[in-house]
Amino acid sequence: MTEGFDIGARAKARCDLLGVPPYSEVDGQLTRRFLTPAHAAALSALEDWMRQAGMSVRRDAAANLIGRYEGEATGAKALIIGSHIDSVRNGGRYDGPLGVMLGIDVVEALHRAGRRLPFAVEVIAFGDEEGSRFPASMSCSRAIAGTLDASALEMRDAEGVSVAEALAAFGGDPAGIASAARKPEEVLAFLEAHIEQGPVLEAEGLALGVVTAIAAQKRIMVKIVGTAGHAGTTPMALRKDPGPAAAECLLALERICRAGTDGLVGTVGRITALPGAFNVIPGAVEFSMDIRAETSATRDAAVDAICAEIHAIATARDLKAEIHLMQALAESPCDPSLIGILEEALSDLSLPARRLPSGAGHDAMVMADLCPTAMLFIRCEGGISHNPAEAVTEADCALAARAMLTFIDKLERRERA
Ligand SMILES: [Zn+2]
Repeated sequence: MTEGFDIGARAKARCDLLGVPPYSEVDGQLTRRFLTPAHAAALSALEDWMRQAGMSVRRDAAANLIGRYEGEATGAKALIIGSHIDSVRNGGRYDGPLGVMLGIDVVEALHRAGRRLPFAVEVIAFGDEEGSRFPASMSCSRAIAGTLDASALEMRDAEGVSVAEALAAFGGDPAGIASAARKPEEVLAFLEAHIEQGPVLEAEGLALGVVTAIAAQKRIMVKIVGTAGHAGTTPMALRKDPGPAAAECLLALERICRAGTDGLVGTVGRITALPGAFNVIPGAVEFSMDIRAETSATRDAAVDAICAEIHAIATARDLKAEIHLMQALAESPCDPSLIGILEEALSDLSLPARRLPSGAGHDAMVMADLCPTAMLFIRCEGGISHNPAEAVTEADCALAARAMLTFIDKLERRERA
């Protein structure tokens, strides 16, 4: 294969190129939110790169940029390679864009080798995965999967601009958003390459990992109710203080999750003592729980165990526990057959095929409603993401591109069989 460019390394360089204005809204950092001038600038750069790679390019009603490298037969089913190009405020350069740039590199390699496949290869740059401008997230992949709720278009940003208004001003078509939905029969599979956003691959000295599933998640609010009192006049023995009870609950959550399997993790990210004064025994303590695991069954078993402990802790201290489920998201398993192909691709490159779940959400979980999905994780320094310190190596990006090309070779063999 004649490549003539540093496949993968160029993808990283292009992410760096898009890390500054006009591709960022803010000088000195990368902030690229959905439907901003920075988003538009990034799309026009990507459009040029997609054309150079041999793709025809279009934008759909939801402001997705779609490059298509046609298969042997016009209108063939497509392998879609994609990720998001929006960022959080003051984010990193690779979370999202690297998956898009790698897709372009991979297609360019096919194009330069003059290869046509029994399927088309499309590269999609989703505009809104992070939800950093509007309250909703993943609205672009939802539009493609045909699962976007019309109410998402009415959500407003901090300036009061609705998604529909911003989309229309951007050249999208809010009234025709349904036209962005793809038919399952048009799509062979979805492949997303993404930085791990965690420390596992680095800790094990591995460049790449094969994602098994995107984790099931539950968000729960807990309120431990006691009796407020004066911090100076109420003897310790006569208190009904929910504070120490909450502390015991946090330790119980940690103990149960540490003993868990299937990537079980639990986090208390917010704690509030009410009324919240230096000299007042709190009348109640509220805290959030975010519990995730590779399967809903593991997650739910842990949630049940934690909730039982919370009630027991409250009862032992003559307090009351109120527990409210705020959100439950099922796991999104990657396709077993595609996982197998990705594992073989890594083995062909003499890389261990480390399987791991994704604790973070991705467009792939939305695309799973449309077609079989696969995800390739790329090692990132210190597991850091959503931060300017986010870093990947050229060597790892080159390996990722080669793994994706090998994946395509194997998918071709399967489709021709
Ligand atoms: Zn991401």
